[in-house]
Amino acid sequence: MEEAFRIGSHKVYRIEEWQGGFSPPEALFAEFESRVFAEHAPGFEPDFMRDGLIYGYLQSWLIDTGDELVLVDTGAGNEKDRPGIPIFGNLQTDFLAKLEEAGFAPEDIDKVFCTHLHIDHVGWNTRLVEGEWEPTFANATYYFPTLDEAAWNPAKETYGSLGGAEVNANVFEDSVAPIIKAGRAELIEHGASIADGMTAIDSPGHTPGHMVLEVESEGEIAFFTGDILHHPMQISQPGWNSVYCEDRDQAASTRRAILDRAADRNARIVPAHFGAPHSVFVERAQDGFRPVFDERRGG
Ligand SMILES: [Zn+2]
Repeated sequence: MEEAFRIGSHKVYRIEEWQGGFSPPEALFAEFESRVFAEHAPGFEPDFMRDGLIYGYLQSWLIDTGDELVLVDTGAGNEKDRPGIPIFGNLQTDFLAKLEEAGFAPEDIDKVFCTHLHIDHVGWNTRLVEGEWEPTFANATYYFPTLDEAAWNPAKETYGSLGGAEVNANVFEDSVAPIIKAGRAELIEHGASIADGMTAIDSPGHTPGHMVLEVESEGEIAFFTGDILHHPMQISQPGWNSVYCEDRDQAASTRRAILDRAADRNARIVPAHFGAPHSVFVERAQDGFRPVFDERRGG
């Protein structure tokens, strides 16, 4: 498998877990307005919209620096019981075969960065081995946002007080706790250095501790933005949140700030769920921003 793109000297591979129609737009966007959506909708078929449903992906991003392999977000995982979002429960995907197609085995991964601890970003952290959830990437250090761990660790006083408990039922227990127990987790805060030229940036709102991974190599920049954006509609309408954004005012102001920073620095935005070509540049437009799907700009 060829890399999806490069950031300077780093090769970046897209490891796909799942794709499909997810939900009608009016059910995904909390601030949905049909007139505004209709203006943009003709450009969304087929990569971002099919048969009246928002079309999306679960995909991980693997950054190969030449020295280290850093995996960003780990999808929904296999064989997991997911009463909060049944569509991502009990999956049997060939995610690890896709990783192998890219040329990598699970034990090759050095670092795993979870932008946040929602159901569809931590799944492959673990896999079922003889009835136990074991770290899939046995040699990796896993980086988790401190505040998200505080939100979902039942042993913490803060558990349940930061929101989002129902949609994330079982997720901490089967996909985060086993990593902590194995001694492979590192809880991080704003500014944490993940590797040379890779920094974690606070981007709260979607979850309390959501983090963007900023990556710079040879003057080129990419932001791995997790769930700051689910769909290009949110580039032209940064005030539109997904219904899964836990603090909507905060999520919208974070979205504007990240888009602003990306426009200023000509950074490639690499979200977790975008359709082809799966990453995007942005330019400022009259009342927001404009997506620029132009491979030439990123090399
Ligand atoms: Zn997500």
